[in-house]
Amino acid sequence: MIKNISISLLPSSAADDKSVRQAIAGECAVDPARITGYNIKKRSIDARPRQPLILLSLDVFIDEAVVAPTPFDPQLNNVTNAPHVVIVGAGPAGLFAALKLINMGYKPIVLERGKDVRSRRRDLAALNKEGVVNPESNYCFGEGGAGTYSDGKLYTRSTKRGDVGRILQLFRYFGAEENILFEAHPHIGTNKLPQIITAIREQIVACGGSVLFEKKLTDILLDGDTIKGVVTADGDTIHCKSVILATGHSARDIFTLLHNKQIAVECKPFALGVRIEHPQSLIDSAQYHCQVRDAYLPPASYSLVAQEYGRGVFSFCMCPGGIIAPAATAPGELVVNGWSPSKRNNPYANSGTVVAVDERDFAKYGFTGPLAAMHYQQMVEQQAFKAGGGKLVAPAQRLSDFVNNKVSTTLPDCSYLPGLHSVALKDVLPQEVAAALKKAMTDFGKKMKGYYTNEAVMVATESRTSSPVRIPRDKETLQHIQIKGLFPCAEGAGYAGGIISAAIDGERCAEAAIALM
Ligand SMILES: Cc1cc2nc3c(=O)[nH]c(=O)nc-3n(C[C@H](O)[C@H](O)[C@H](O)COP(=O)(O)OP(=O)(O)OC[C@H]3O[C@@H](n4cnc5c(N)ncnc54)[C@H](O)[C@@H]3O)c2cc1C
Repeated sequence: MIKNISISLLPSSAADDKSVRQAIAGECAVDPARITGYNIKKRSIDARPRQPLILLSLDVFIDEAVVAPTPFDPQLNNVTNAPHVVIVGAGPAGLFAALKLINMGYKPIVLERGKDVRSRRRDLAALNKEGVVNPESNYCFGEGGAGTYSDGKLYTRSTKRGDVGRILQLFRYFGAEENILFEAHPHIGTNKLPQIITAIREQIVACGGSVLFEKKLTDILLDGDTIKGVVTADGDTIHCKSVILATGHSARDIFTLLHNKQIAVECKPFALGVRIEHPQSLIDSAQYHCQVRDAYLPPASYSLVAQEYGRGVFSFCMCPGGIIAPAATAPGELVVNGWSPSKRNNPYANSGTVVAVDERDFAKYGFTGPLAAMHYQQMVEQQAFKAGGGKLVAPAQRLSDFVNNKVSTTLPDCSYLPGLHSVALKDVLPQEVAAALKKAMTDFGKKMKGYYTNEAVMVATESRTSSPVRIPRDKETLQHIQIKGLFPCAEGAGYAGGIISAAIDGERCAEAAIALM
């Protein structure tokens, strides 16, 4: 007999097979000896009670042999001589589009402006240690896109559960831990993502696809309103019928190129603010109602949201046990983001904490038209760079000092490697953002004990939350509304936010692209 049951256990018991079997026996009212095994379907934490619990949903085998889940087969073909589709950008969207094309018998040619994972590492070291930004190779550009050195949280609000399951299976197939298949909030970790991304690329190449690095798209060739090919910075032309444009939210040159060619792009509201870093122990105490975190519980996370002066303010991409990273893509800008290793074992907890901004805000600074949000975003990043004093030193302020309009006389230790410079953040951030953040800090403090503290530091700017531009496409064919054969894809085009939804959109664009072949 196979039974699907749910049980809740103390964290230490959930980590112990014997205790789990005892709990199963109790729930099923059978002798523990009759339980031959179980498969975990879902694992989550219920941190609401004073004693946090682990919730397990299980398939339990009683008096019969355990059946392991069927191994996943990605069904990848040899496509060496198949018709080709050009994919621009080797982020999650581009790579999963390539895998989907191979799965359907077509050859992907992936063009990536940045370097392969290994070479990219050297440029990240220069970013962190010397404050030098290589505009082609950084936290956003290079093999795996923004996904490679991201946090690797694979949680998505997307309701397309079937597709999410397939993407998780593919991550597992290429080397992620099995637990991503059943954790309620799966996480890979920055230390593990590079090997997975490399394995995906090696598979694409082994199947006969191409992944070309330091191959930046600089123009698209049109025959009337139809794609004819692409041109790269080194002068190459590649002819094709379909181009999947998966260049991410930081490819400002792509937005500008389309706009200059009079190919429709639209201004898109987005959100902007700071990263806030607390000691992890403080977040653990608040979320788990304890002095010291139970060794069987992971470092705690949080998610906070408020409406202030008619604007949404929310925490974003929370990284327990994480690091604040410099994520600018051009010299003279200051952008921060966050990641954590698979063990989430740094002593800090950070999250982006951002305020929704829209056309009315952009217009106040004289920015109008399709690229208004992009110019506003760039303006704030440049202001932050200047306020930090150069070399990616970030302007920062203690949390309560920010609320009380006091420049911090000292700053706490922080995970951000290029360093911090104490400023009044209200002079760095747009007035509308600073005002909403200020109000939200006190409100968040009421929602979460310990949040409102001068032990926390606010670091500017968290500005690449989503694309400032939408590239409009037809809902059915996914082609650009004006250009046949051009498939605006994923985060950069405004149709995804995060690794999973970008990967799903990559797959969808691949399916749509072959309809033209
Ligand atoms: C530090 C950090 C942490 C993050 N943590 C998480 C997380 O935990 N969970 C999550 O879901 N998301 C996270 N994200 C966001 C996530 O990485 C992105 O949502 C995702 O990578 C978007 O995928 P994409 O393929 O649409 O674009 P991208 O990943 O941005 O990829 C676009 C690619 O296109 C390339 N490109 C750009 N212009 C050109 C051109 N002209 N020619 C050729 N190539 C070009 C770029 O080099 C890049 O490789 C994080 C991001 C960062 C930076």
